[in-house]
Amino acid sequence: MPDRSTIFALSSGRPPAAIAVVRLSGPKAGVALEKLAGRVPEPRKAALVRLRDSSAEVIDEALALWFPAPHSETGEDVAELQVHGGPAVIAGVLDALGRIEGCRPAEPGEFTRRAFENGRLDLTEVEGLADLIAAETPAQRRQAFRQLKGLIGDRAEAWRERLIEALALVEARIDFSDEADVPEDLLGPALNAARQLRDEIGAALADGRRGERLRDGLVVVVAGAPNAGKSTLFNRLARREAAIVSPYAGTTRDILEVHLDLHGYPVTVLDTAGIRDSVEPVEQEGVRRARNRAEAADLVLWISDLSAVGRVGDDVAASLKASEIWLVGNKSDLATDAPKAGNNESKFKYVISAANGDGVDALIGSVTAFAGEYFSAAESAIVTRSRHRRALQETVAALERALKQAERGHEREELVAEELRAAASELGRLTGRVDVEDILDVIFRDFCIGK
Ligand code: GDP
Repeated sequence: MPDRSTIFALSSGRPPAAIAVVRLSGPKAGVALEKLAGRVPEPRKAALVRLRDSSAEVIDEALALWFPAPHSETGEDVAELQVHGGPAVIAGVLDALGRIEGCRPAEPGEFTRRAFENGRLDLTEVEGLADLIAAETPAQRRQAFRQLKGLIGDRAEAWRERLIEALALVEARIDFSDEADVPEDLLGPALNAARQLRDEIGAALADGRRGERLRDGLVVVVAGAPNAGKSTLFNRLARREAAIVSPYAGTTRDILEVHLDLHGYPVTVLDTAGIRDSVEPVEQEGVRRARNRAEAADLVLWISDLSAVGRVGDDVAASLKASEIWLVGNKSDLATDAPKAGNNESKFKYVISAANGDGVDALIGSVTAFAGEYFSAAESAIVTRSRHRRALQETVAALERALKQAERGHEREELVAEELRAAASELGRLTGRVDVEDILDVIFRDFCIGK
């Protein structure tokens, strides 16, 4: 049974603020407006109203908006009150609403949940909305907005419709094979469609996970031997004192992270414990974690102390299995014979002084360019979550199985249908709509068999 109560909540941020937005959704939204504001305004037109509590005392003067069902965000009757954003005003409004029968405070995400249940948003759009709210950089915002507008949901729905058409052909072949007016070769077109879908979905999956990365941020790990100056560089990148800078070796045992917006692209920088051979158990654990993080990173900045004799740890860099490692020589201010970055004799791509900032801008510039290049391909990615990836992988796997069954011969039609059904239901799970009724609809619409 759907919950028919009317929900309300403060939808804007933490008070105090200039304006606060209180939203209501449900069958009593209109009644509540009547009670508080004395009238229900014209749909979708802002109206200046006085809100009163149950003893008729004025709480505030507000703008009221009325969105009657079904043309509202939740698909239900929705009212929105824009009040002055003080705590007492908001408390007064919420209290007055709570006294109206059938009205109750909303649970977290409940407005969106109702929008989903009423078919206003599919699951991927719900996720897009969540991402849009969480977006920290313009590129993340663009991706979330595209998803909210149905980027993957519409695609998945179109794929599912084509799958259901193919399934309908196979089902018709099975159910009505004796009937004279059902064409013989229904399986051929169905399998062609399945092959095409497999290829299209497979292509969407071959995106290097860039869409997911754009959500989480490109991972840059600052690694190197203890005391090389990793924390100092990290702090400079973070432009705040986030890591403990200490003159003693091996103190940064945990992993700190900072989220950067580099020209609109999200980059997460991790500061790791110094990587060197250690016998001390706590430090060993830190080193193990640092190594794992570095190997999973998109980019490792391997920091070496140019002033240290023997330059410990540089051999470790060579053994690290990371996708991209840049060797960065640090403490150029201390090294009298500091090598120049990028020239042929130098193995260092960058030479910097984390302490006084020399060369750091060039390094950040290169990381920014690296992120830009990495993410330029993300703008076309449609998969932004592992949930989508799993559902699409399952769909492809089911299509593969269907095609395999078909290769084995005619008597396998039932099994082909079974796998196509599984594929369709994976896509249905992706958007949150799994419905078997529409398979029947398609059969009867396309074949007029119901004679
Ligand atoms: P980590 O162990 O690699 O994180 O190294 P830290 O960032 O804690 O730095 C170790 C020591 O080196 C600290 O005393 C820093 O002040 C010093 N240090 C870091 N970078 C530089 C640099 O570029 N020049 C100089 N002179 N000292 C630095």
